[in-house]
Amino acid sequence: MPRNAGRHFLQIPGPTNVPDRVLRAIDFPTMDHRGPEFAELGKTVLEGMKRVFRTRGHVVIYPASGTGAWEAALVNTLSPGDAVLMYETGHFASLWHKMATKLGLKPEYLASDWRTGADPQAIERRLREDREHRIKAVCIVHNETSTGVTSRIGEVRKAIDAAKHPALFMVDTISSLASIDYRHDEWGVDVTVGGSQKGLMLPPGLSFNAISEKALAASKSAALPRSYWGWDEMIANGRNGYFPYTPATNLLYGLREALSMLLDEEGLENVFARHQRHAEATRRAVRAWGLEVLATNPAECSGSLTAVLLPAGHDADRVRNLILEHFDMSLGTGLGKLAGKVFRIGHLGDFNDLQLMGTLAGVEMGLELASVPIRREGVQAAMAHLVSCRTARERAAA
Ligand SMILES: *Cc1c(COP(=O)(O)O)cnc(C)c1O
Repeated sequence: MPRNAGRHFLQIPGPTNVPDRVLRAIDFPTMDHRGPEFAELGKTVLEGMKRVFRTRGHVVIYPASGTGAWEAALVNTLSPGDAVLMYETGHFASLWHKMATKLGLKPEYLASDWRTGADPQAIERRLREDREHRIKAVCIVHNETSTGVTSRIGEVRKAIDAAKHPALFMVDTISSLASIDYRHDEWGVDVTVGGSQKGLMLPPGLSFNAISEKALAASKSAALPRSYWGWDEMIANGRNGYFPYTPATNLLYGLREALSMLLDEEGLENVFARHQRHAEATRRAVRAWGLEVLATNPAECSGSLTAVLLPAGHDADRVRNLILEHFDMSLGTGLGKLAGKVFRIGHLGDFNDLQLMGTLAGVEMGLELASVPIRREGVQAAMAHLVSCRTARERAAA
């Protein structure tokens, strides 16, 4: 392949662009993970991650992809044959569901159309029917990365409470953590699952569990086999900043840098507002092109990615391939039953207004190249939104 000049646009919804500062932070000699210097690093990143999850509970960090932290959430808390209630928000929910089956659990799957989030009322109804409390956990994907739909986790919590059901509440935040508002403690979540390569702006390779006291208590009697994923030794070692086995030391250097950028320099509230602004500008572009955003409920549109539905007869992967070939930009493919029907624009992580405009310009040009019938007004609409946000800020400052 010939060389492409300039920067590649990595606009898939994870892995995301890694800031140069984070890459440089990783590029240091690996240290002794049993030595005194490491303890400082370990304590700093564990404390920082508690702030990201908004929890005063326990956090563990695995040298693993997000899938590993999914498995950790299940095997630490449940026993063979346990019923779990899962919600079919899309492809990632289906993968977690498949994993639960493979682990010997009995997942019950509430169906959806892949265009809306987990329905708190449907969950409440099902839990009320479960008078014997056979269901041991409710598992929800906060931000369904295959559809660009964000479920209302606080409302799902209220539904579980309204049904007076004791099930554990587990939430996958792999593509929302540090991009979309999330509150582990306030929303009464028992296990939150996170990953490094999306909102946290790191390369792939780290994943997380945030753990409530209730989940920790459940882990004492949970009978699914576990060793690598076991919370007990992770938490015991973590108290002193250490790990039971070799951690991904250099990724933790990167995590320390990313946490400092997100928590101390920009501030999580500003990070969330930036993501909302870019998501809104993107949706305005899609509508101005005359295309459809896959998410149908305005209250559930994702802040971190947008799935764009193509008119019948147009192949979304052909559009993506043309954009990659001509403009050196990667967009997310349609997953599962959405293959060929949608492409996904990732607008999360280390990302600013002009990167978004470059992204949307690439999409608009690619749609035209692929002969998808559009109005050439998307880029304009997005710019107008970004300018209006800036004007409002200037006015507020004056
Ligand atoms: C990316 C993603 C995963 C999978 O994480 P891996 O790191 O690829 O194992 C799971 N759930 C959601 C919501 C995701 O976005």
